[in-house]
Amino acid sequence: FEVWYQPKYSASTKKLVGSEALVRWRETDGKLIPPGRFIPLFERDGYISRLDEYVFREACHKQKYWLDRGIKICPVSVNISRATIYGANVVDKYLGILDSCGLPHQYIQLEVLESAISGKADIAKILEKFRSSGVRILMDDFGTGYSSLATLNMHCFDTLKIDKSLIDGIGQKDGETLLHYVIKMGRHLGLHITAEGVEHESQLSYLQEQKCDDIQGFLMSKPLNAEDALEFVKQYDELHKPSRQSLEENSNKLAAERMEREKGNADSSANV
Ligand code: C2E
Ligand code: CA
Ligand code: CA
Repeated sequence: FEVWYQPKYSASTKKLVGSEALVRWRETDGKLIPPGRFIPLFERDGYISRLDEYVFREACHKQKYWLDRGIKICPVSVNISRATIYGANVVDKYLGILDSCGLPHQYIQLEVLESAISGKADIAKILEKFRSSGVRILMDDFGTGYSSLATLNMHCFDTLKIDKSLIDGIGQKDGETLLHYVIKMGRHLGLHITAEGVEHESQLSYLQEQKCDDIQGFLMSKPLNAEDALEFVKQYDELHKPSRQSLEENSNKLAAERMEREKGNADSSANV
């Protein structure tokens, strides 16, 4: 299994704000199998929790590795399935992995499917334990389940990830009305809003207008393997650092301003 990363950006500044860890299965002939083809089988066979834990461990270790090498890392969110959340000692196990690799908790987040929570009050306690330890919880695929409004009221989430199916409604009157109120409702409940599956500039413009916080989608970047993701973060960092030329321009400007001020002071003291 390989863990790939899909970046997330601030909708207003387009700055990199995080990424999502997504698993892939590499076959012996090198072909990559997407998760949609094996996760349903794993859910049936009960292997899903081992896979979730593997991805979580990999993401924690990679984050710590990058952090130790001075890379400016952003939080990585990891998917956790219903069976895993209901597994024994999930909080102790997951926090134990985080602590054993020495990664500060704010660098890992958990994505929980809306359908995994619906109507289950006991899951709120589990999520609250993660949150009180500093691990943020994202409600994934919001808008695809059947009891969205009830789950929203459980107050155990930090972020609402709006599903692609709602984003695809941009450009249609009813679709936009729905999205407008979903974002508004999320905001009123104090949630951070991320839109996923953003593919078009027109969708981005609409989401910016609606003051959606973050965006994730093929428009900005597809999922990348760990090596490319690192390269991407480094290049991004370089791109957003003031360049040597602009640093020089800036320092020349400051020097000119200083000389101007000093000249002004000298003139005024001569006048005295
Ligand atoms: P998800 O959690 O909703 O992840 C987002 C999926 O949407 C990813 O597919 C991503 O590649 C795709 N995507 C992102 N932006 C766009 C876009 O602009 N257009 C389109 N068409 N697609 C976009 P992927 O990687 O194939 O993952 C599919 C699903 O598999 C995930 O959906 C998630 O439910 C599941 N999954 C992936 N990794 C894990 C894992 O480690 N554990 C568990 N339990 N589930 C996982
Ligand atoms: Ca997800
Ligand atoms: Ca999703």
